[in-house]
Amino acid sequence: MSAPRQQEPPPQLAMLQIISGFWVSRAVFVIAKLGIPDLLNSGPKTADELAAATNMHAPSLFRILRALVSVGVLQSDPQNRFSNSPLSETLITDVPGSLRWFTISELGQEHYPAWGNLMHSVRTGGIAFDNFYGADVWAYFKDNPEDAAVFNNSMSGMTAAVNDTLRSLYDFSRFNTVVDVGGGHGGLITEILKSNPNTKGILFDAAEVVLGAKEKLAAAGIDDRCDAVGGDFFKSVPAGGDAYIMKWIIHDWNDEQATRILKNCRAQMSPDARLIIVDCVVPETNEPHFSKFIDLNMLVMTGGKERTANEFEGLLNAAGFKLLQVIPTDQPTSIIEAQPA
Ligand code: SAH
Repeated sequence: MSAPRQQEPPPQLAMLQIISGFWVSRAVFVIAKLGIPDLLNSGPKTADELAAATNMHAPSLFRILRALVSVGVLQSDPQNRFSNSPLSETLITDVPGSLRWFTISELGQEHYPAWGNLMHSVRTGGIAFDNFYGADVWAYFKDNPEDAAVFNNSMSGMTAAVNDTLRSLYDFSRFNTVVDVGGGHGGLITEILKSNPNTKGILFDAAEVVLGAKEKLAAAGIDDRCDAVGGDFFKSVPAGGDAYIMKWIIHDWNDEQATRILKNCRAQMSPDARLIIVDCVVPETNEPHFSKFIDLNMLVMTGGKERTANEFEGLLNAAGFKLLQVIPTDQPTSIIEAQPA
């Protein structure tokens, strides 16, 4: 028997699903913030039990949970006990590559109001976040350490999700010293050093971010091989690397700013050193791709953008590099390798 044909919903219904997408996102935010998937990890629970454990209003929480069951984020049984689905398991705090902190950061405090101000970016080309908060996001994080901690955790989670892929597709063992420029709390450099015992690392980020990273490097047992250096990549980056890696950095900045960061890396590099950019590469074709919406996230949050392979090549050439290869991965991000020209 042939499989039943998937019926396309009529356009009005399909459009309604798109329009109400943020209702789903915000409901997911609530369960991530409350740690509901963590609570369900020990077995199914009723809305009353979950509300008691989180100090919430049970009938309202029930409605959130019921709605999320309807879109497959949670599951329920005939006794109205809720349990995790494979989707909500990705929100458990300590699963590898957990999306919990990313969910809270993207849909909670600072990103969400900026998205509400998307029209500002479209009308003016300016940064919706800066217009809403009167400061850029990096200054905001400096002034709001709790939100910064959530953001740094969210980046660590997203990095953990791609670590295996990066290590399997790119050989870091040939480098003596890898400098992770804008390396956040060090999730990527930690994994690179753990799997390459002869390689040293330098974690470079804003001073207050690096401060929070130090204990994580120590806990991972690599602090004897990894310096943590605070600074501003618009001024300079640390010397001494034969590889400079930047994950989710170049997409934060416009072409002029990105060129400046790249030139500062170039200034420290010998002719055979390598530059490794880990970012989304926007396909030239019209298929769905995560890059096309994270691009809007950059529009509202930082004034940066996602780029096509050609656009990356243009940037690299302007900063004195030649593009060696673009390695696609099974994730939305690609590995872009370059060398001083
Ligand atoms: N590479 C990490 C973090 C990406 S988020 C990862 O993929 O997980 C972008 C990082 O750039 C943040 O950690 C932020 O603190 C850092 N950053 C922003 N402006 C900076 C500057 N001027 N100098 C150094 N780091 C900066």
